[in-house]
This record gives sequence, C-alpha cells and structure tokens, in this order.
Amino acid sequence: MKIGIIGLGLIGGSLAKDFREENLEIYGVSRQEETCINAQKRGIVDYASKDLSLIYQTDLIFICTPIAKIIPTLAAIVPHLKPETIVTDVGSVKAPLVKTCSELWTNFIGGHPMAGTAEKGLDAAQKQLFKNAPYVITPTETTPIQAIQTLENLVKKLQSVIYFASPEEHDQAVALISHLPVMISASLIKTVMGETNTQVLELAQKIASSGFKDTSRVGGGNPELGLMMAQYNRENLKQSLLDYRQILDQIINHLEQENWQALESILDFTQNSRPKFL
Ligand code: NAP
Repeated sequence: MKIGIIGLGLIGGSLAKDFREENLEIYGVSRQEETCINAQKRGIVDYASKDLSLIYQTDLIFICTPIAKIIPTLAAIVPHLKPETIVTDVGSVKAPLVKTCSELWTNFIGGHPMAGTAEKGLDAAQKQLFKNAPYVITPTETTPIQAIQTLENLVKKLQSVIYFASPEEHDQAVALISHLPVMISASLIKTVMGETNTQVLELAQKIASSGFKDTSRVGGGNPELGLMMAQYNRENLKQSLLDYRQILDQIINHLEQENWQALESILDFTQNSRPKFL
C-alpha cells in the first residue's frame, strides 16, 4: 500500500516513522525543500518532494498540515487522484473541516490522533508517538464503509486506541477536555502575572511548586495552537467557558456567604469524580 503524507512535521513525520516500520511505502510532501531532503535522507519517507504530484498515485493520503491549509491542500489534489484513493486529515478540530472535505472528496474521512508534544516540525517527530493514545475517527453518514475500514486497519498499526464519533461530538468533547483547560490555565498564568505587589509576586515565584506547574502547563504552550482552538472550535469553546464561569461564580458566592458546606460539597464531588473520569 502506498501512503501519502502531506506536511512532514511532528504528526506527519511521526506517522511516517511508524508506517515505514510496517513496510508501507511512504510518499511525503512538505512545504520546504530542506524538510523533504531531510526526511528522505533520514529514511523517514521513501520519497519526498515539495510537489504535490508526488502523492497523486498513492492509495491513502494523510493531510498533516496546519489546520488552515487542510482544505486548500485537499482542493488542490482532488482533480488528480484515483477515485479509490482515501484521504484523511489529522486536524485537531473536525466539524468545520469534515463538512467541506467530504464535499470535495467522497472518499474523505476525518481523523484526530490525540497525541503530541510541545515541539513542532520534522525534528520533533518520533516513533510510537501514537501508541496507546486515543485516535478518533469521525465518519459521516456518507463516508464509504470501505474508507472507514481501511483507515481503521491502518490506525491499528499505530497501536492507538480507536474511537468513532461524529465530527460535532468530537469537537464538543475536545472543547471540554483540551481547549477549555488551555484557556483556564492561560487565565491562571495571567492572574498570577497580574499581581501588582512585586514582593508578593517574587515570593510566589520562589515557592511555586508542582501544583502550579501542573495547572499552568497547558496555558504556557504554543499560542498558535491555542488560537487555532479558539478560531476553529469557537462556539463549543465559548459554551464550555460559560459553563466554567458559572461554577466559578458559584464558588465566589459560597466564599462571600461563607457557605463552607456548599463549597465542601463541590470539592467532595470533584474529588470523587476525577478518578472515575480519568
Ligand atoms: P508541525 O509540526 O508544525 O507540522 C506541520 C508541517 O506541515 C510543518 O512542519 C510544515 O513543514 C508543513 N507544512 C506547512 N504548510 C504546508 C503546506 N501548505 N503544504 C505542505 N506542508 C506544509 O505541526 P503538527 O503539530 O504536526 O500539526 C499538524 C496537524 O496535526 C495540525 O492540523 C494539528 O491540528 C494536528 N494535530 C496536532 C497535534 C499536536 O499536539 N501538535 C496533535 C494532534 C493533531 P515544513 O515547513 O518543514 O516543510
């Protein structure tokens, strides 16, 4: 089977590394000549080029570009593909992409490997990045069964844990567990940085330990990614933030009223819920 990968960065490069281990033939396309040369020299792909025509004859194509380039890339390749070629993407948001992509190409099926690091680019690519990580496949009513099965069989080779969801459900779920935490964590960092008493701020910095490291980690990540979540999953993220604000308001109320019992019952609930949820 010939696999095409467009966008040889963290995700595209990592997919290429794992699929090559499975003796699949990998055709890689990337924006920069240097990335293509590197990918081929280091044996990450069998063939590489800046030119999209390299992947026209492949059987299954992964579009692994930044989200904004996924639809334009698909639009550029569809006039040249064999009708049976399956195209998938790895974008972190699904509904806005899947709708247009499925209209452009019948054999399109959305996907989201839920693994990553804080790094980007081909140098960040690693083997087994997707092992034991969730991989959400988001077919629609019109996605051909054959395309779903072929993608599923390929994803199994990554040893990912496969889930199926509609694009809309996927986006609501990632708003809750991925996009909302980024904004909450960013708000936390901004609140701390906003402390005007420099002595207090300096002391806080000195004594900040594992709790603050845990809760600030995702807010201290790549701003491009955070912005992308907000732009492409705007409504779901907004709803999650509004729900979150309600809980914050409740907590502020309980503090003001010195309603310790109510506050305790929230904290009891969260203590019990977290291990069950995770
Ligand atoms: P990345 O490391 O920046 O890789 C993207 C690569 O695409 C770049 O290195 C660039 O390579 C190449 N590229 C950019 N524009 C292109 C174009 N027009 N045509 C061909 N290649 C192009 O980013 P990533 O983290 O792998 O993210 C890629 C996709 O995976 C995104 O859609 C993202 O939503 C999704 N995703 C990311 C994560 C994560 O945690 N990072 C997790 C799951 C899914 P050169 O400039 O070097 O050629």
